[in-house]
Amino acid sequence: MTRPPPQALLIDLDGVLFQGDRPLPGAARLLGRLAGRPHCFVTNNPIRTPEQIAAACVAMGLPRPDPRYILTSALATARWLSRERPGLRYFAVGAGGLEAALSAVGSRDERDANAVVVGEGVGLDFATLTTGINLILGRGARLIATNPDTTVDGMRDGQRVVLPGCGALVAPFTAATGVTPTFIGKPEPLLYEMALAQLGLPAAACLMIGDRPDTDIVGAVRLGIRTALVRTGRFPPGRDWVAGLPRPDFDAPDLDRLIEALDRAFPGLLTPL
Ligand SMILES: [Mg+2]
Repeated sequence: MTRPPPQALLIDLDGVLFQGDRPLPGAARLLGRLAGRPHCFVTNNPIRTPEQIAAACVAMGLPRPDPRYILTSALATARWLSRERPGLRYFAVGAGGLEAALSAVGSRDERDANAVVVGEGVGLDFATLTTGINLILGRGARLIATNPDTTVDGMRDGQRVVLPGCGALVAPFTAATGVTPTFIGKPEPLLYEMALAQLGLPAAACLMIGDRPDTDIVGAVRLGIRTALVRTGRFPPGRDWVAGLPRPDFDAPDLDRLIEALDRAFPGLLTPL
């Protein structure tokens, strides 16, 4: 039995629309052709707020994505915690987007937090690690990590560099306490499930575009979401597929080629030219 065509797109950001402050090929075209179509951007990156991401796109010369349709791992973490930990008192370790998301659903409390939440970017040092491990060991605070990526791609002095991801930044907390964190971002299902709930669509009605086989593709396939890989980020053109990982439904060198393939396979998924 053939499946009905997808009605909505889920789209990763870093390595798909942009890399650092540089737009990737086809990004402007895709953003233009999402107008009026159901979609949700899903990113493991908890560093920036949706409004900051939208503003960064404009600064790169891209059409402005609607911040209401940008779901970061920080926002998903906050939504999940507001459900799981009524009366949330948190201690956050990471850059600003995490604090912004958590402050909307709970209160910051370094003395009596019931959740230690680790994100990405600046924030981890001897003092924050000490505070966090004492909250976990002494107060029974739960350890939450926005996303499991051990490394992420970034830019420094105009050069591409590898930066420590949340999976690496949360590791010292685990080493010191023996507590395994709850991970929210891809490939875990929570971020995807929240995006599907926001769209009001089942997994089978969506197609996910991402650049990482181990998070974007694996997580989507587990839920029954169709997948497309673009080789503009973590997984370069020409590299052999990773043994043991599910293959995507589409495998394109960049968004321009992917849009052409989607137009052939699913006319009407994107707004007509
Ligand atoms: Mg990515």
